[in-house]
Amino acid sequence: MRYGSRRRRRGIRYKRSRLGGPSRVGRGTARVWFRLILILLLIVIPGIAGERFEAGRRIMVYDTKAAALVSMPLELYVERALAAEMPASYHLEALKAQAVAARTRAIAGHCSRYPEANVCTDSGCCQAYLDDAAQRVKWSLSYPLFRAKLERAVVDTAGEIITYNDEPILVLYHAISGGRTEDVELVFSEPLPYLRGVDSPGEEFGSKYKGQLTVSREKFVKLVNDALPDAGLTAESLESQVEILVRSASNRALATRLGGASAEGRKLRSLFGLNSANFTIAYTAKEVIFDTVGYGHGVGMSQVGAEAMARAGANYLAILTHYYTGVQVTDY
Ligand SMILES: [Zn+2]
Repeated sequence: MRYGSRRRRRGIRYKRSRLGGPSRVGRGTARVWFRLILILLLIVIPGIAGERFEAGRRIMVYDTKAAALVSMPLELYVERALAAEMPASYHLEALKAQAVAARTRAIAGHCSRYPEANVCTDSGCCQAYLDDAAQRVKWSLSYPLFRAKLERAVVDTAGEIITYNDEPILVLYHAISGGRTEDVELVFSEPLPYLRGVDSPGEEFGSKYKGQLTVSREKFVKLVNDALPDAGLTAESLESQVEILVRSASNRALATRLGGASAEGRKLRSLFGLNSANFTIAYTAKEVIFDTVGYGHGVGMSQVGAEAMARAGANYLAILTHYYTGVQVTDY
């Protein structure tokens, strides 16, 4: 029935245009004008946007793509890091939490790879980064909308950082915790009072909340035996040779036995490129199947968890003080 009524409506519109209503040519011209105005907006808005961040503190950023060290307004850097580190479609309060986290990371210390810089633009070292041209490519026609939204997140939190005992914290964050974040010392070396495991409910909507990775028994054996010569795994005996011995409170594998060798769960995670150290292992006649929960190392703020909290009505301060235990949000 619905299909029939759509067909009828289409028929009516067609008749009207033939009787002198808005013609196809007229609609085409309107579309051209609409596109022209959009393109003009795309050209004009970034110019206005860049200027509003010119004032205030500057930092040194090593741009790995351009292989150049550049001095840049802190707030402009924050907007570009925010654009790369969190989907612009997220709730404004989640984006504000991420902006404060990115700003804290930018002024808290120095890049370990390029010590003359406060931060570099390599996500594997410091934080990811999208300059204006890259933002336009990524967001296409949504650029004006997303750009304005991110700028609001930066302006609304301008100058704010996360501190513990009046010192900027070591900011760690990840995509999806899988229900609970991890104590920092179980993933990295040093314990820190503000990076403790906390519950992170409501993350199931995240597209990578659950994952699965399948490898052949032969590939599994080769990768493990190459990395751990004492393992001595054989493809037909994996069920008795591989064991997860200890899990953390967040269900991440901490200690595993791999034949004659032992390894931390995170070692298996990096060896096979697993989404998370929260995994189970199952077998078929020919394959090894990893089922994972969560995405990332699991320490500090969960970005999908932050979005879940924001959707449930939490503001950015509530989000940050939930994921970073005992911290304050202050002006730097
Ligand atoms: Zn770096």
